[in-house]
Amino acid sequence: MKYPLVEIFSSLQGEGRNAGRPCVFVRFAWCNLACAWCDTDVAERFSLDLDALVAELETHKERSVVLTGGEPTLVAGMPELVARLKEHGWWIAVETNATRSREDAPWLDFVDYVACSPKAEAPAEVRLESADEVRVVASSEDVVDFCRSIHSRIAARDYYVSVCDRDGEMDFATAKSVLSRLPGWSLNVQLHKLIGIR
Ligand code: SF4
Repeated sequence: MKYPLVEIFSSLQGEGRNAGRPCVFVRFAWCNLACAWCDTDVAERFSLDLDALVAELETHKERSVVLTGGEPTLVAGMPELVARLKEHGWWIAVETNATRSREDAPWLDFVDYVACSPKAEAPAEVRLESADEVRVVASSEDVVDFCRSIHSRIAARDYYVSVCDRDGEMDFATAKSVLSRLPGWSLNVQLHKLIGIR
């Protein structure tokens, strides 16, 4: 079995509570949503088996890894990958669109950090029950009701609103307006966009 991949690269985590943390990003191919403003190329570019993927990660200096996508909870072989990375001492974060529950993806219980980004465009698809942090993109003023619903459905320590990026245009005004109506929510700063890194 091989893992479908888009890219593997070192950078700083740009989002949420771990912003600024040096990490290796593993972007898995394919997603089950099709968000209108999605700027992520999720087509498979290459594949690696478990040994080759872990060996590739070991060539990087960082010891924190972000398993992202696409949608990593759709990928087969994640329990084996997480177990192997823990054996090698990696700190593991996962970024998911929250469409799969912990029952669907029980290996989520064995990673160090789960960040989820439920999509207001697909409210019926949200199944994840808990995460370390929740990030919702302020794609319109109407996202406030969705955020309130998500707050009651997904237990998390931190709740963030992200600025919507439409073809490089950052819509801070909508994010600010949305946040003003969501006590306890904070702006997801998206450090990578501010300092111009991946
Ligand atoms: S969930 Fe993420 S990767 Fe999937 S279509 Fe939406 S923005 Fe793109």
